[in-house]
Amino acid sequence: MGSLTSDDPIHVVLFPFMSKGHAIPILHLARLLLLRRLAAAVTVFTTPSNLPFVSRHLAGTLASAVSLPFPGDIPGLPTGVESTDALPSMSLFPAFATGTVLMQPSLEAELQRLHPRPTFMVSDGFLWWTLDSASKLGIPRLVFYGMSNYSMALSRAAGVENHLRGPTAEDEPFTLNAFPWIKLTKNDFERYFFQSLTEDNPQLEFIMKAMVATQKSNGLVVNSFQELESTFLDYWNRESGLGAWCIGPLLPLEHPVVGDPPLRTPWAEWLDRKRAGGERVLYAAFGSQAEIPAAQLQEIALGLESSGASFLWVIKRKESDIMADIDSGFEDRVSGRGMVVREWVDQRGILIHGSVQGFLSHCGWNSVLESLCAGVPILAWPMMAEQPLNARMVAEEMGAGLRVEAADGTVRGFVRGEGLAEAVRELMEGERGEAARKKAKEVAETARKAVEEGGSSWTALGTLVEEISRQR
Ligand code: UDP
Ligand code: UDP
Repeated sequence: MGSLTSDDPIHVVLFPFMSKGHAIPILHLARLLLLRRLAAAVTVFTTPSNLPFVSRHLAGTLASAVSLPFPGDIPGLPTGVESTDALPSMSLFPAFATGTVLMQPSLEAELQRLHPRPTFMVSDGFLWWTLDSASKLGIPRLVFYGMSNYSMALSRAAGVENHLRGPTAEDEPFTLNAFPWIKLTKNDFERYFFQSLTEDNPQLEFIMKAMVATQKSNGLVVNSFQELESTFLDYWNRESGLGAWCIGPLLPLEHPVVGDPPLRTPWAEWLDRKRAGGERVLYAAFGSQAEIPAAQLQEIALGLESSGASFLWVIKRKESDIMADIDSGFEDRVSGRGMVVREWVDQRGILIHGSVQGFLSHCGWNSVLESLCAGVPILAWPMMAEQPLNARMVAEEMGAGLRVEAADGTVRGFVRGEGLAEAVRELMEGERGEAARKKAKEVAETARKAVEEGGSSWTALGTLVEEISRQR
């Protein structure tokens, strides 16, 4: 591969991680780069099983999706699983993520074949080995984690100030010197941060590899906007040595986007009827990864039923089977008032439907942005990953949501139906809910300005392409 010249057309290569939450914003970025003519070509790498999903999201654009064979021999992994959404258990995550390194030769072969030559690559932080491939071929690499600046900054500060490995109890509140107004507990962070690398800890080993490669990369692409969390962005840019480009929210503000099917599903019609009847609907969904135990699912059902609220609840196939076993009469009892959906939905479409006035959410970062950008306040119930931090950000830092309280008052404790029902009523009808709704609408307005021509994210994306292209 010869050296690139500045006359070569800009060709951006995107390589999202194989999970819906990591892929969706990157697919939006592909669309944006082409719509704004910032790139002449965009190529998205994926794997055979994820190709239909990726292609569907790129429909109507000139982006190409290239499928790399997924290794069939990752130890501990059932064959045919090419996405963390499809893992039988999240305990297999480190094996899955570590195993993706076997894709390296095919990525490099494809990179060399691409025409025009890639100008730069944006790849997921979990695909740490893509840095080696990019470096070998002289391609700058930017990293994408799909996290807020808030959670990145707090995770960094908690590590630097050495709060997580000591003997402090997991629910003992502490504050950070960097952010003394924020009350945290160890439980706001993933367990593997508490342990040391000398213990058998494949998750931490993997994260360390990702972090080392991130540090050596050419920058960080963040799905957020500067006005939302400037304090945390400033901290990150000051302390990390790796500049963050806030170019989000990476989601369609107009809906449906070109190429999307029209919103004519049974649940869309149900929502239309609710709107016509002047009813407020709570949307309840916990993303594509969370594993909710049977006893907790039952309390969710109880809580939704006794809240008296209208609700649209999206459950996964596995949860649907559990519900059928533990409470087969639930849907009949809530008939008319509540709807349970068992398929992949257009979540963004639901959140901007005028009837939806609250979101019971696990606080995956995409869900948070999608909700706030629709002006919908969040009832935060974090389940895993950096979600507890996102929940704090939404409820405590921004005031755009409330928290579901666990029965024992801890971050990860069991939630009882009655507590959930009370929180739902407060969000949908109470004063605190109304204040959060007002705040969410303000955030939506600021987000819109950030991505409009001349806005902070709009400008950052243009500058990013220009600056990184100059580094080739
Ligand atoms: N999503 C969707 N339909 C579904 C379930 C999820 O469109 O039925 C989308 C959702 O809108 C979001 C992403 O999948 O864009 C999930 O990402 P998030 O960060 O919220 O949570 P994760 O799934 O990563 O835990
Ligand atoms: N699929 C799979 N393994 C994976 C991811 C997807 O077998 O790791 C399958 C999935 O079950 C579906 C097809 O590939 O039959 C397309 O997956 P997609 O994620 O697009 O889901 P869909 O929305 O089509 O159900």
